[in-house]
Amino acid sequence: MALSGLEIFKLLPKTNCKECGLPTCLAFAMNLTSGKIELSSCPYISEEAKAKLAEAEQSPIRLVTIGVGDKALKLGNETVMFRHEKRFENPPGFAILIIDTMDDAEIDARLSRFQELQYERIGILLRPELIAIRNDSGDAQKYADLVNKVKQNSDANIILMSSNHDILSASLKVCADRKPLIYAATPDNFEQVAGLAIQYSCPVTAKASGLDDLAELTTKLTEAGVKDIILDSGSRTLRRAFEDQIFIRRAAISKNFRPLCFPTVVLPCEMTNDPMMEVLMASVFVAKYGGIIVLSDFQGETLFPLLLQRMDIYNDPQKPFMAPEGIYEIGEPDQNSPVLLTSSWALTYFDLSLAIEASDIPAFLCVERIENETDVMCWCHYCLRSTQRGKLDSKSTSRFIKECRIKDRVNHRKLVIPGRTAQFKAELEQTLPEWEIIVGPVESALIAGFLPGFAEDLKNLSET
Ligand code: SF4
Repeated sequence: MALSGLEIFKLLPKTNCKECGLPTCLAFAMNLTSGKIELSSCPYISEEAKAKLAEAEQSPIRLVTIGVGDKALKLGNETVMFRHEKRFENPPGFAILIIDTMDDAEIDARLSRFQELQYERIGILLRPELIAIRNDSGDAQKYADLVNKVKQNSDANIILMSSNHDILSASLKVCADRKPLIYAATPDNFEQVAGLAIQYSCPVTAKASGLDDLAELTTKLTEAGVKDIILDSGSRTLRRAFEDQIFIRRAAISKNFRPLCFPTVVLPCEMTNDPMMEVLMASVFVAKYGGIIVLSDFQGETLFPLLLQRMDIYNDPQKPFMAPEGIYEIGEPDQNSPVLLTSSWALTYFDLSLAIEASDIPAFLCVERIENETDVMCWCHYCLRSTQRGKLDSKSTSRFIKECRIKDRVNHRKLVIPGRTAQFKAELEQTLPEWEIIVGPVESALIAGFLPGFAEDLKNLSET
């Protein structure tokens, strides 16, 4: 279990030497608790203290990897019940269901959707990770052929869904090199399925009816030598499954109850026939501890919000999202289009880019990297209320404007800065003598009133 700041402080040298970059050992302890600093930043911690801290920091929930290479899905390793306590570590994986009784056209369509439904957001690729292949036909060869087809035509991590040992065995011969998740070992077949998991070094799902049976099953699997286990409590109603997820997480984090110290799988695809209800259920499990979430199908309009929700919940609350530094084209700007400046803080980037998009005026948005959120070169209404003044480092901004070479993309030399950084206009004009600095509106909501007139002035300028 994680140690408190004071417990960590007792293990430190207490010399306040400041070499870790913090003024006192107590400050170091507090920062270590909240994950803002690494243990290695203090060179004077004794080996004994290091061992105690490392043991305390060890996650009670086992890290389980499904798949191989850079597309492998890592689950578990969580240390907290609530995101604000530190952060959630490994986001849940989304799986699309393919059944071996589906016709070829349907299977091909699902494979295409899996490969194509990918989205880029502030430099992060959002996409699903898994294909769950279910055996309903009872035909081992047909199932193995389908598994092979999925393997050849996608980069998905694979879930093999069958409780039949022979069918699982035939399909593992086809795809064991992709380290699939075997679904599932049950109280009836666990000895045989455990044998396959060990033979092929694959993770396996333990599936039982209720948490008591599940704990008993994982104990038997562990005793048989299986280490990488995913939990399915067998609940197929939202309420029961939701309660199970919370119970399992609490049993692992608060009680360190070893039989339930594993990531989970939930199957909204088996809880409802209503696609919209299924997505709502999935969103509950994104927030509350689902490890793998199996959906009956993917559609862009439902998958995208789930991917966004996952990204938001699993980002580190102490490190706000940052858009990569660079020039962003909004619409199809040309050499006479406006150039606006903002910081890389994702909130202000989205706020401003959406406002420009809504104004229907194509523009270049120059996004300068900031080191922390207190450097508020910001267009957000929220910041306007929480902070009275914006900050702008004219040296850093002039470096960025020169390096990004926006001057090669436009004929004019007019740069729009956030209204709240107006006091830096003169300073910036000194460091960027080529450019005329235009003070824009104080918040992005006013962009629609500002941009059309400004764009018209630029157009007229180019014609004179
Ligand atoms: S480097 Fe270590 S001993 Fe020095 S102040 Fe930081 S925590 Fe204390």
